[in-house]
Amino acid sequence: MESNFTIFNKQNVTAEEIAAVLRLKHRLVLDDLFSKAYELKLKYRGPYVYFRGLIEISNMCRKNCLYCGIRGANEKVLRYELTNNQVLEEAQFALDAGYGSVVLQGGERNHRAFTERITWLIKEIKKLRKGDTAAGKNPSSRDISLGITLSLGEQTKEVFQEWYDAGAHRYLLRIESSTRELYEKIHPQEGINKELHLYDKRLQAIMDLKSIGYRTGTGVMIGLPWQTYLDLARDLLFFKEIGVDMVGMGPYIPHGDTPLGEQYLKEELGELSNDDKLLLSLKMIAVLRHLMPHINIAATTALQVLAPNGRERALMAGANIIMPNVTDLSVKGNYNLYDGKPGVHDDAGATKNQLEKNLENMGIPIGWDSLGDWR
Ligand code: SAH
Ligand code: SF4
Repeated sequence: MESNFTIFNKQNVTAEEIAAVLRLKHRLVLDDLFSKAYELKLKYRGPYVYFRGLIEISNMCRKNCLYCGIRGANEKVLRYELTNNQVLEEAQFALDAGYGSVVLQGGERNHRAFTERITWLIKEIKKLRKGDTAAGKNPSSRDISLGITLSLGEQTKEVFQEWYDAGAHRYLLRIESSTRELYEKIHPQEGINKELHLYDKRLQAIMDLKSIGYRTGTGVMIGLPWQTYLDLARDLLFFKEIGVDMVGMGPYIPHGDTPLGEQYLKEELGELSNDDKLLLSLKMIAVLRHLMPHINIAATTALQVLAPNGRERALMAGANIIMPNVTDLSVKGNYNLYDGKPGVHDDAGATKNQLEKNLENMGIPIGWDSLGDWR
């Protein structure tokens, strides 16, 4: 293996070559991979990490992805929906905290009352200004408005367009796995559920987002049962081929009340230890930074499940985005995509203080009040 990773500079680096890097185990070689990725991030994106305040608007979902804790069929979940006021208050918190952007994330729903409400919320969030309070507008606020990222699953192109026109400019829709066979294994493919979980529809939705003009983000889960190094290498090439603006990928973490999670835990489907899964996630991030040096790469919350400093380690391997949770504590514990969600007892203020402290210790500056887009 070439230790200087020049293969990434080739126009036509192959999936096999990337898979060989993902299989690397030697500590010194990996340190080299991570530090070169970090240098690329510095060179192309500067020293900053950008924050997006994560608002988990609802755990109601019409879908049944086999891995996800809030899948519609999971009857153990206490379902909630934030009120309009709660969403706006959380967005105001993010704005005042200097986060620059919010992410509205939730289960996939598509009835008109829902899509119209999102349109309304987007417009209202765009009107918020720093320092506004419930008592009134802040006359001296700087004219900063929040960037809005949506992560609300597959929608029709018309709905995507409506939300874009209302003011949302980024959308996160993970492909989950770009290998069709694996995608089909982790999504229901029978009965009425089948239509809702088609690989081709997922792909089409990502293409629709791009054609509308969204800064488009996608991603995969890492360490899924049956997933190979070659699958993951192809995922990275897929991101490059379709030309995404952001990637959020993180470890697959089983949820005990899901079909995949149950099987994973019972049959010991997981071949990787937690440490290995974390390391593989860091390698994926580092290789992606080599392949796409300009884009935004998230240090995802799921990394924090595997190690308390998982996200910080991802920053040292080339990631440059963190999504601090700003969701109201009263519901935060009901939005469990996987077991062991971190920080469910920390409010938005405590989450911010802890992150700030960690980043300061690492000497990584925060891009306050900034959108942090690469284009
Ligand atoms: N409903 C939307 C957004 C919420 S789910 C959607 O599906 O796009 C956001 C992401 O959580 C999913 O894309 C998936 O990759 C991730 N996720 C769900 N269950 C997970 C699990 N058990 N482990 C790790 N990530 C998971
Ligand atoms: Fe719903 Fe998203 Fe979970 Fe799938 S991953 S069940 S769409 S919330």
